Amino acid sequence: MFSNNQTDILIIGSGIGGSTMAAGLASSGLNILILECGAQLPDSLANADQDKIFTEQFFKPQEEWFDKDKKPFRPGNYYYVGGNSKFFGAVLARYRKEDFLEMEHEGGISPAWPVTYEEFEPWYTKAEALFKVRGDARFDPTEPYHSKPYPYKAIEDEKAIKVVKDKLIAKGLNPYPLPLAVDIEHWKKTRKVPWDAHPHFFNGKIDAETGPLTQAIQYRNVRLQTNSKVLHLKTSPTTNRIEEVIYSLNGELQSIKPKLVILSAGAIHSAALLLRSNNLQNSNGLANSSGMVGRNFMNHNCSAIIGFNHKYTNDAIYSKTFGINDFYLNDGAKGLPLGNIQLLGKVSGKILKANMPLIPSLALNYFSKHSIDFYAMSEDLPSANNRVFVEGDKINLVWERNNWEAHQKLVHKFSNILKECGFYLVLNQPFDKRTPSHQCGTIRMGNNPKDSPLDSYCRSYDHDNLYVVDASFFPSSAAVNPALTIAAQALRVSNHILKSSL
Ligand SMILES: Cc1cc2nc3c(=O)[nH]c(=O)nc-3n(C[C@H](O)[C@H](O)[C@H](O)COP(=O)(O)OP(=O)(O)OC[C@H]3O[C@@H](n4cnc5c(N)ncnc54)[C@H](O)[C@@H]3O)c2cc1C
Repeated sequence: MFSNNQTDILIIGSGIGGSTMAAGLASSGLNILILECGAQLPDSLANADQDKIFTEQFFKPQEEWFDKDKKPFRPGNYYYVGGNSKFFGAVLARYRKEDFLEMEHEGGISPAWPVTYEEFEPWYTKAEALFKVRGDARFDPTEPYHSKPYPYKAIEDEKAIKVVKDKLIAKGLNPYPLPLAVDIEHWKKTRKVPWDAHPHFFNGKIDAETGPLTQAIQYRNVRLQTNSKVLHLKTSPTTNRIEEVIYSLNGELQSIKPKLVILSAGAIHSAALLLRSNNLQNSNGLANSSGMVGRNFMNHNCSAIIGFNHKYTNDAIYSKTFGINDFYLNDGAKGLPLGNIQLLGKVSGKILKANMPLIPSLALNYFSKHSIDFYAMSEDLPSANNRVFVEGDKINLVWERNNWEAHQKLVHKFSNILKECGFYLVLNQPFDKRTPSHQCGTIRMGNNPKDSPLDSYCRSYDHDNLYVVDASFFPSSAAVNPALTIAAQALRVSNHILKSSL
């Protein structure tokens, strides 16, 4: 069915964007080849071993990127079938209706998207079905309109978590069940660890591999090829279409001529690949007549907040079932937006030890047993100066935080609330550039080709057979988890492609 070096559609990357595109296009009968640079993450004891995951950083690639001061760092960016979602917290949240509109923040303006929430809504509904999301849309005051309820009922809070949730409700907050792509019964049967940051092999987390990819490769016309790293896209000198893609398969150079290319290598690698593929006609890199490829990198401002009280005992296992959006659209007192709070996912003594190796394990285990942990997330605003650029194989990531004051206010506000709930010791720790988990924005979509490389269906303005469908397309980062929005857009784009001719 597949000829040696031709295919109808080539998808680069099997993360949320690539796998969901494959699922959306599979029924077309077109030959679809997915090239993934990583291998399948195997079933192994290491998957549930917190010493391996956090102390040894066993799954983190031995890779270096360079920061604004040219200093090397080792990023938590994962290359497996399923991409970063193999490690994700499986919170599949819709962006709020307001996130699609221009919004003022303390650090500046968050721009409007070229599509409205109303246009996106049916695709969110389909993506929730594809990822079998468990949730309940009735509790969050910022929840936008849903045309259908979540396909499965929300995952219940563990006992120790419910106690704290009730205290927050008594303080006037509106905790809501996190929308989660986890088959909790399956997970509980096989795993006694949280799912956020914990890899798995078909243990109940519905990620890009176990969800859309598994569905897509059931079709004979869809093929996944692993250990295949795309190195270069070549354009035709006459049409400027992508005519050939060069990749390395287990170290050997190969080439393929697809009719359509869908680039889904993640916000950093997709930009890097386009920049590296520069040629005479496209001296700035491909898809880059706007000069915006690689720019407007965003990553969310995030912190862990941990509240401790020696009389509180936390025997919860996964601890990731509710969130709070009471400060999402404003600060709770008509001020500017601050962001989202959600449970982080049980920070154990071993996880603390990986971050604080000098403190005795006994003390850290005690602290963990009597504490509860949250994740505070605020919007990171697009700035052309925050960018990915390449020097040969080298990836440079320049990221200066903005809207940080709003984030600090959120951390301060929620820390005080936890104190009022009896957690007399509250600690916080920001996540830094080594955690590019929510990377986005580097090849944004927009209505004006002068300032955006992609149109609102993620098609390149410069090359009409190139689409970029991963977190790169985001015009703004909002302040909730990004994966569902990538998946919804992938379904919307695949439907659009099927309606047009290749
Ligand atoms: C620890 C952690 C927790 C997270 N928790 C959540 C959460 O709870 N909710 C949420 O919404 N989001 C979460 N995220 C973020 C979420 O996982 C990402 O937003 C999402 O996976 C991004 O999908 P993507 O398609 O843009 O890219 P990726 O997932 O990065 O996929 C890109 C794929 O392309 C492959 N690739 C890269 N370069 C090449 C190349 N040159 N050739 C071939 N293949 C290539 C990669 O191996 C990878 O498989 C989390 C991320 C992490 C790391």
